[in-house]
Amino acid sequence: MSNKSAFVTVDKIKRRGLLFVVSSPSGAGKTTLCNRLLKTDPNLTLSVSATTRPIRPGEEDGKDYHFVTEQKFSEMREAGQFLESARVFGNYYGTPREPVETALAQGQDILFDIDWQGAQQLGETVPTDLVKVFILPPSRDELERRLRNRAQDTDDVVAMRMAKAESEISHWAEYDYAVVNYDIDEAEQLMRCILVAERLKRTRQTGLSDAVSKIIAP
Ligand code: 5GP
Repeated sequence: MSNKSAFVTVDKIKRRGLLFVVSSPSGAGKTTLCNRLLKTDPNLTLSVSATTRPIRPGEEDGKDYHFVTEQKFSEMREAGQFLESARVFGNYYGTPREPVETALAQGQDILFDIDWQGAQQLGETVPTDLVKVFILPPSRDELERRLRNRAQDTDDVVAMRMAKAESEISHWAEYDYAVVNYDIDEAEQLMRCILVAERLKRTRQTGLSDAVSKIIAP
């Protein structure tokens, strides 16, 4: 069965959109996995967060993040424009509310690349439509190797990144699913399996009772 056929089958019956939250320490492969899912899954869109952190080379305003000043961020927060917001490693991040509500109303699934604080907050606001996945590295050594390979950083910088990673990983048990990224292709398939299974949940398929009534009482 191709991936495409799985998605087509799942989306024949009307259903509610879901909020697919993916968290991990940096170095676990989250960005690559999210990009692969977004590229191949027509029913998945990314929630583009607002952040006060400086733009990095290769990033695009409005695509990777909405890059805003602290002043603008706090105005947006005061105006209730965020579904959740958090301070992560010294910068502010927030999920704009309006695009998420629009996408959900259209039955679109939304992918959130947010940290454990955001996942917790969404759990309080939209518990039923939330699916939380945590990506883990295969081992401590492998995580350190990946963090070291990112750039020619000093041991101190690598140690700091490891400490941040440990703090994020300590929240693993708050998630519905855990995917260990031994191999990126395999991890991608596992993420896809989670999405498909969650889409098939009976309670999420709002068009099911209509469809069934046509079968049993034509
Ligand atoms: P980075 O600055 O490296 O892109 O992201 C740093 C961390 O902030 C990552 O763990 C990322 O998942 C998290 N993050 C990105 N956007 C949001 C957001 O809107 N809300 C929360 N709570 N975390 C976010």
